[in-house]
Amino acid sequence: MIITVFMRKSPLGPGGLELTILGTGDAFASHGRFQSGYMIDSPGYRIMMEVGPTSLCAMKRMDFKPADIDMVLISHLHGDHFGGMPFLLLEYLYESPRRKPLTIVGPPHLEERTWRLFRTMFPGTKPDLPRLLSKLKFVVLEPGSNVKIGPTRIRAMRTPHMKRDFSLAYRIEMGGKSLAFSGDSGWTEDLLPFVAGADLFLCECTYFESTQLAFHMNYPQLDANRARFDVGRMILTHVGREVLDRNGEIKLEMAHDGMRIAV
Ligand SMILES: [Zn+2]
Ligand SMILES: [Zn+2]
Repeated sequence: MIITVFMRKSPLGPGGLELTILGTGDAFASHGRFQSGYMIDSPGYRIMMEVGPTSLCAMKRMDFKPADIDMVLISHLHGDHFGGMPFLLLEYLYESPRRKPLTIVGPPHLEERTWRLFRTMFPGTKPDLPRLLSKLKFVVLEPGSNVKIGPTRIRAMRTPHMKRDFSLAYRIEMGGKSLAFSGDSGWTEDLLPFVAGADLFLCECTYFESTQLAFHMNYPQLDANRARFDVGRMILTHVGREVLDRNGEIKLEMAHDGMRIAV
């Protein structure tokens, strides 16, 4: 009898970094793409970057176990980037109790907004919240932050995207590799030195024609400036309807839901 065992194949050797893209959509879930979510793995440590409203669904479809996450990293407090937090916390209360600590990292007010959202969506939730709270640790990052958490180093830069709150781009060093992420951002020359030297740069690309919307990137501008990004590989994500409608004209590499990359 032949028994076939299906396993998630990992191209990771010792060290290294692996990225699995849970969701590449924008706030409108254009073309049915899942909203923002990224799993970043190095041996023994897993970061979930961005928790969009659809991220728990995407995670389970791709066979990730919620209890395995060591860190949640959020770029900014827009719903398509952190609106899935109540579902993740509910998962930890009922379905996948936390046995190990979870560090939740992001801009100021993340903790307060997460719990406000949770109480709005699931009022009067009774299970053992104190037990879950004892496993959670919130860490606040601000523009210019440069912190070491577990095996990872994270640097943050403010992006032109939100007026009052901070919206952050990140640079993550782990497993001897570096991954840069624009978060949501309008065009800014500051991104060029911030991402320079990264092995992989995930860059948002929400618009194509709407070049007047200065709080998001548009494709023509990224295409015109591609040579100025000194990175090993650049992949467009957070793609909106305008970009997807003109897929045939996109020359830069574009992410898709479920994409896996050995960095
Ligand atoms: Zn967004
Ligand atoms: Zn946003």
